[in-house]
Amino acid sequence: MPIIITVAHPICLDDRERDCDRRAASAARILHQVLKAKKCDVVLHISGLYRPEIDANRSESRGTLWRKQLNEIIKAQLKLGKVFVVDMHSFPSDAEMVGSLKAYFIEMWFRTGSKVYQGWSDNDKAWAWLAVKESIGETNARILLGDPHNDIMITSNIAGASTVILEVNESRDVLSDLGLKELMTHLTDELFMKYC
Ligand SMILES: [Zn+2]
Repeated sequence: MPIIITVAHPICLDDRERDCDRRAASAARILHQVLKAKKCDVVLHISGLYRPEIDANRSESRGTLWRKQLNEIIKAQLKLGKVFVVDMHSFPSDAEMVGSLKAYFIEMWFRTGSKVYQGWSDNDKAWAWLAVKESIGETNARILLGDPHNDIMITSNIAGASTVILEVNESRDVLSDLGLKELMTHLTDELFMKYC
């Protein structure tokens, strides 16, 4: 019954152009450490795909080894109990609309034909928001709706897992390393431990 942490865009090859998520892998490692320290069953699954060549969070990458492995891990773990997939990303502080936030979640809630995609439950959402309040403060975070491009969430949801995207600010002036650790610690205490 694990938490699975995915990082879709960790490979940075260009210093000037932002060709990756610059803080997602380190944020994922912090969450992984916090969960491990609490004896949570946790899998860290970091992509080796380079986003400008193929985006690991889009449907075009479903045939890649990394995405197939993710599906296998989810399916195997679901036989043992509930699974929560945290898809970790990061954004620059000059990003439109969200740049001043320390972090935001993307919950996926939309309907395609008769299928409803809901990434996490209202209960999970309430616990996550409590963790935000206790760590970085509720004015510094938001919960946004997803869309059909968030493909890791979609396939995780189809497989039967609860899932959310967590986006953290890449600027340490906005979100300090300590703030990031506090967010991960509170998220673990309030939400993720329920899945361990
Ligand atoms: Zn990303």
